Amino acid sequence: MEKNERIRCLIIGSGPAGYTAAIYASRANLAPVLYEGMQPGGQLTTTSEVENFPGYPEGISGFDMMEDLKKQAGRFGADIRRGIATAADFSQKPYRITIDGEKTIEADTVIISTGASAKYLGLPDEAKYAGMGVSACATCDGFFYRKKTVAVVGGGDTACEEAEYLSHLASKVYLIVRKNYLRASNIMQKRVFENPNIEILFETQAEGLFGENGVEGVHLVKGKDTDHEERYDLPIDGFFLAIGHKPNTDIFKGAITLDESGYIVTAPHTTETNIEGVFAAGDVADPRYRQAITAAASGCKAAIDAERYLVNNNL
Ligand code: NDP
Repeated sequence: MEKNERIRCLIIGSGPAGYTAAIYASRANLAPVLYEGMQPGGQLTTTSEVENFPGYPEGISGFDMMEDLKKQAGRFGADIRRGIATAADFSQKPYRITIDGEKTIEADTVIISTGASAKYLGLPDEAKYAGMGVSACATCDGFFYRKKTVAVVGGGDTACEEAEYLSHLASKVYLIVRKNYLRASNIMQKRVFENPNIEILFETQAEGLFGENGVEGVHLVKGKDTDHEERYDLPIDGFFLAIGHKPNTDIFKGAITLDESGYIVTAPHTTETNIEGVFAAGDVADPRYRQAITAAASGCKAAIDAERYLVNNNL
């Protein structure tokens, strides 16, 4: 394959946003090329079952859903490739994106849908129990913990929202907070404090998980490195991380406008970034909703925005 390639529409990332953009862009004859990125299929491939995506009354595994989206994009001719975007140059047109550090794609439009990654504590047990009681998405997996006991780690707005959401499903929710106060907004704090199903464990950290065929409990330490340090085990069925997300925008730093958390800034109600012809869709530009359906919808918008840009500029 040649080293450089000139195309009309490059899509970076293969979550619901990227594949939906590919479906729309290929049906609009933009001959899009999509690079799958580090985690083909994106974050959804790590969730067990997707039950809230309209059109799947019986639910579908995240993996199968992403395979379906990929097939659907392929059916209309989207060129889907393995490969990771490793550098981006938006300083001149056509834009230049480096793939795997070696090949350069020159593109008239670029749709960035590289997603975000949930932050984990870094405990080996998080990987050991992945999909077996450990989750970083209450909206995705909370349903499986109806009338069970769960713990949420974190003290920000996300953690409070997840705890609140889970409190309507689970019989008991522990909120594990490493400091002796919550960082969340006042309104979220109030909701959590007033919720009889949520118990906050301040000054507490998780050090490991235990269980035979899934999570059965968490090893906790309270007041770590203080004179009142105390270690104990808490029985739980589900362990939810809510310590923040990190948008996958490292290669775009300095090339495109990001907000203070690293998310790509888009113009209200569009997927337009500060660089004309470059669009952002899905979690990479969305710290707020982070749902498969909202990502897919923004992928659709990005393809339409790209098509209009190409037409308006005779490209
Ligand atoms: P935040 O960065 O606000 O909070 C992260 C929380 O996780 C903090 O309590 C932090 O503790 C804790 N934490 C981080 N690392 C660790 C660790 N290694 N071990 C234990 N605890 C840890 O992230 P959020 O995702 O909550 O929020 C991100 C942004 O999105 C915020 O600006 C928030 O306001 C916003 N948001 C708004 C919502 C809304 O308006 N409805 C909903 C959700 C988010 P510590 O405080 O000790 O650092």
